[in-house]
Amino acid sequence: MICIHCRKAELEAKIACVDGEVHEESYTVACEALVCPRCGYTTIGAGQMQEFMRLIADAYRLGHGLLTSTEIRTMRSALGWSQMELAARTGAEIASIKRWELGKIQDEAMDKLLRLFLDPSHAKQHAKAMGLAQRRLVRSELKSKERVS
Ligand SMILES: [Zn+2]
Repeated sequence: MICIHCRKAELEAKIACVDGEVHEESYTVACEALVCPRCGYTTIGAGQMQEFMRLIADAYRLGHGLLTSTEIRTMRSALGWSQMELAARTGAEIASIKRWELGKIQDEAMDKLLRLFLDPSHAKQHAKAMGLAQRRLVRSELKSKERVS
């Protein structure tokens, strides 16, 4: 493909830093792009768009403390679960799980749900916090009974 900027060279596929926008925030990611060796014009080819969108979405997720597509896939694989199994366990749509792993950004509530099911140490912490909360409740009930009697 001829460079549309200088029209004097063929674009070459190579790794380049490319800017993108997610939810009105700008991010720069290193990804495969089409670059003009003459003027430096850089664009994302049709076949490179999905991976670029995934990388930009992951940059946003990192910036906002959300699990990245790679983390979701890696953590799920570490448990030996298919996308279907994760969908069945969480109650999320399998289409959503597929999209999150391809780059669509999950909302905060879904991120918390995914962490509960995918991150054993997070699940343990959560169970511990619930245990503490229950013990506090039992103690305060005992105290109020003592006051009554
Ligand atoms: Zn050019």
